[in-house]
Amino acid sequence: MIYILTGGPATGKGTRSEILAKALNIPHISTGEMLREVAKTNESINEMMQKGELISDEIITSLLEERIENPDCKNGFVLDGYPRTYNQAILLDELLAKHDRTITKVMELVVPDELAFKRILERKQCEKCGEMYGIDFPPEVEDVCDKCGGHLSVRTDDTKETLAKRINTYRENAQAILDYYKEKGLLMTVDASHNPETVVEDAKNI
Ligand code: AMP
Repeated sequence: MIYILTGGPATGKGTRSEILAKALNIPHISTGEMLREVAKTNESINEMMQKGELISDEIITSLLEERIENPDCKNGFVLDGYPRTYNQAILLDELLAKHDRTITKVMELVVPDELAFKRILERKQCEKCGEMYGIDFPPEVEDVCDKCGGHLSVRTDDTKETLAKRINTYRENAQAILDYYKEKGLLMTVDASHNPETVVEDAKNI
């Protein structure tokens, strides 16, 4: 089972990927999370992410390859944040073919721009465990993680300016990726403005 969740910034890819991965008992792989870890010790990646720019296909694909070779991915995984470009879609097919694997389904999450802006400007992440909180999932105590007690802060790339850039970058690249998966009969579109739990039903209905 290999599910790909795609969509613009703040369409709820992270939340829905997490719910789906839990329901299927497979890992959730987020390339954004992987890169945020790398950015802690790599200034040039950190700078690019702060500006809302894409990291090179080479770097992110090799990180991804290393991750999916881990034994915990043997029954599949939910991938969020990759592919971001048409070239990455081709690279992903090559990577999976090398491991005798194929994509089960690509779910495109769609929300109106205003909702994406609202979600993104109000979301916070735990500095310790990475758990996300937002308008739909506030923490029980303000700025304290329900899971581990860590401090919650705004992601440094979650600003109005960066968001506009990230939405544009998504749009520039998205159509070619969506067309690619549509042609292969893998694409389904999901209205992600509502309850994120419905993602499990959506996946089951495939
Ligand atoms: P996300 O958490 O998915 O919103 O990603 C945050 C940032 O990480 C993006 O704005 C990019 O700078 C970088 N990033 C994540 N995934 C990719 C990818 N597949 N290719 C290139 N850059 C990526």
